[in-house]
Amino acid sequence: MSVSRRGFIGGVGAALGYLGTGASVDVFGQNRPQAAGAARAPRMTDDYDAMAHLSSNENCWGPPDSVMKAMNNAWKYSNRYGYPDGNLVSEIAKHHGVKTENILLGAGSGEVLDFAATTYLLGGKKVLGVEPTYGTVFQHATSIKTTAIKLPLNKDYTQSIPAMIKAANDHQSEIGLVYLCNPNNPTGIVVTKDEVKQLLDGVPKTMPVLIDEAYHHFVDDPRYATSVPYVIEGRRVIIARTFSKIAALAGMRLGYAIAPAEMIAEMRPYSMQSINALVKWGGVASLKDTASQADVKKKVIDLRKKTTSELEAYGYECLPSETNFFMVAIGREVQPVIQEFATKKVAVGRPFPPMTKHLRVSIGTADEMARFMTAFKEIFPAKAKTTAAV
Ligand code: PLP
Repeated sequence: MSVSRRGFIGGVGAALGYLGTGASVDVFGQNRPQAAGAARAPRMTDDYDAMAHLSSNENCWGPPDSVMKAMNNAWKYSNRYGYPDGNLVSEIAKHHGVKTENILLGAGSGEVLDFAATTYLLGGKKVLGVEPTYGTVFQHATSIKTTAIKLPLNKDYTQSIPAMIKAANDHQSEIGLVYLCNPNNPTGIVVTKDEVKQLLDGVPKTMPVLIDEAYHHFVDDPRYATSVPYVIEGRRVIIARTFSKIAALAGMRLGYAIAPAEMIAEMRPYSMQSINALVKWGGVASLKDTASQADVKKKVIDLRKKTTSELEAYGYECLPSETNFFMVAIGREVQPVIQEFATKKVAVGRPFPPMTKHLRVSIGTADEMARFMTAFKEIFPAKAKTTAAV
């Protein structure tokens, strides 16, 4: 059974509002602002700043100097419409070895997920994907009055590619888009390059497949690879990328689609073209600052390994994440636990049905992770390992 997003916001928002801590927890921080009529409650700066932000898979260190400098230099264009933008689209195309006609910008990759969904689902086609995964495409499907075909994860929390292929073929006439999040959010688990090939070879040739690579930059597993080469091959594949994670520009809103030229042309009418001058220049600088990104990746992986080892030693099993977040099996319902963490000024991830006995934790600074571990040990007793059952 799925929980409606609006109902859930109301329930958790109300619960958090009455915690008595004054803490305003960003349970949906990593999603885009709500549609008109569902405005977010304003946040008090002091409360926000006092929290350890481990709820939204952000980059806690912020953009590097190279990116800050590029954005600061772009203020002079803030009063203009047509202005030099550092050739962002060409730079992205060059970065991936594709043509500019293969790139379409979005205000965050959330917008990419939206315009891809609008393009291929409008008129009542369904999206096929797993549950749990990143929910934007499913929510967007609901907002344009269509639905999703959601498949359960395997017992080990991987995505079942054979099941996806079967569903894509069985429901071929109903499906407008396949959504594959790789690595998956919230589990952090990768789909291997062999499995991606199996999927793309197995679904009907004309069926668009949207592969969300928001966490691509954190992956170390050699069995994983980007799916950009399939775009170059001309398959009906859209890759979504973001500057919100490794590049630390979540608040500035920049992402993009990489797809065959005809798919970019199909999606373009639904894109807002609303990227600001500062982040365009920041994006260009970020693509070039590979040293800073390598540094962020190392810090994330070190802190993830340290925290998950501590949790395992304390008796709590963690899923094998390749991202800047991980899931820990807590053996009881997560919703009240989220609230307990909030009272200790630690914001942790929202529930991801049906995995409601797992807690998703983003990687923050060393200090934030230490605060998380202290809070965890106050909330949970040391014990023999939990089983990671859904
Ligand atoms: N895709 C995935 C898998 C995500 O986890 C997120 C955000 O957390 C997004 C897309 C959207 O991010 P943004 O719109 O900031 O690029």
